[in-house]
Amino acid sequence: MKRVLLLTTGGTIASRLTDEGLAPGLDGAALTHYLGALADSYDLTVRDILHLDSSNIQPEEWRLIAQKVYEAREDFDGIVVSHGTDTMAYTASVLSYMVRNIPIPVVLTGAQLPVEHPLTDGVDNLRTAFAMAASGKPGVFLAFDRRVILGCRAVKTHTTAFGAFDSVNWPLVGRVNGAGLSLNAAAIPPLDGPCRLRDKLCEAVFLIKLTPGLDPEIFDMLLRMHYRGVVIEAFGAGGLHFIRRNLIEKLHTAAQAGMAVVVCSQCLYESSNFTLYQAGQKALAEGVIQGYDMTTEGAVTKLMWALGQTEDLDEVRSLFERSLAGERSV
Ligand code: ASP
Repeated sequence: MKRVLLLTTGGTIASRLTDEGLAPGLDGAALTHYLGALADSYDLTVRDILHLDSSNIQPEEWRLIAQKVYEAREDFDGIVVSHGTDTMAYTASVLSYMVRNIPIPVVLTGAQLPVEHPLTDGVDNLRTAFAMAASGKPGVFLAFDRRVILGCRAVKTHTTAFGAFDSVNWPLVGRVNGAGLSLNAAAIPPLDGPCRLRDKLCEAVFLIKLTPGLDPEIFDMLLRMHYRGVVIEAFGAGGLHFIRRNLIEKLHTAAQAGMAVVVCSQCLYESSNFTLYQAGQKALAEGVIQGYDMTTEGAVTKLMWALGQTEDLDEVRSLFERSLAGERSV
């Protein structure tokens, strides 16, 4: 029997109705009760580490989850992390960097309806997550709606549909069907070294979604607030406005002040290409880092992580030029 560790953190899957709406109230023992006979198919250990709506999961909690995962890596064949869906894609992305090269599967899952609800999707999602955790395929993954997604490519795209997550710019890692769990080996990046816990983060990273006419003074405010990194979701393949309100000038100011700026597209699918238009090339000339086909969640957490590892902006740039866990196509 495969040794699987279930780390619970809260989320809808573990929620109950309170006077103030749904709130996490069930522990891991209660979750496994709903698994029924499935729990007997694995040598299961349960550890409750948090009881939070994932809106409250922040860098401190990411570090705790990463530490618990890292500590358990040699004692289990796989780890399932139950988690709220709202910020699950951020946690899956940041774990991909913090416990990079983890030699076992680490699988995040949750639900759109509490496990106590008669129509819950939680049991099904846990089933898929356990099967992936027992698969022997190393990496950080997200299991939902009978699909397995590479953690750093997952995006929550639906508020209530059971198919809440998409695999963005990356093929599905796996799918549950009549053949069981069918895996696509080409979608699982190979390990490229030993696993070390690298959980230092720089939380001073801001995300800007450009809107037409956005006031460039936002950069002055961010510098005054000591932000060290900014991810800009720019227009289309890659463009920022520079007439009347000159964002390019401010990119120059930000670079002079030592701020790392990553530019992505606000389109969900396909890659940025800032070389295509003048409005993108001008940004590249100011030294911004391109996010290419990374998800926003993958880019923001990578920037937090990279700035936690080094203060040298050239090193940050070279970390973004590589794919660390499959987060960008090279
Ligand atoms: N608000 C919940 C959470 O993220 C939503 C969910 O789990 O589906 O914790």
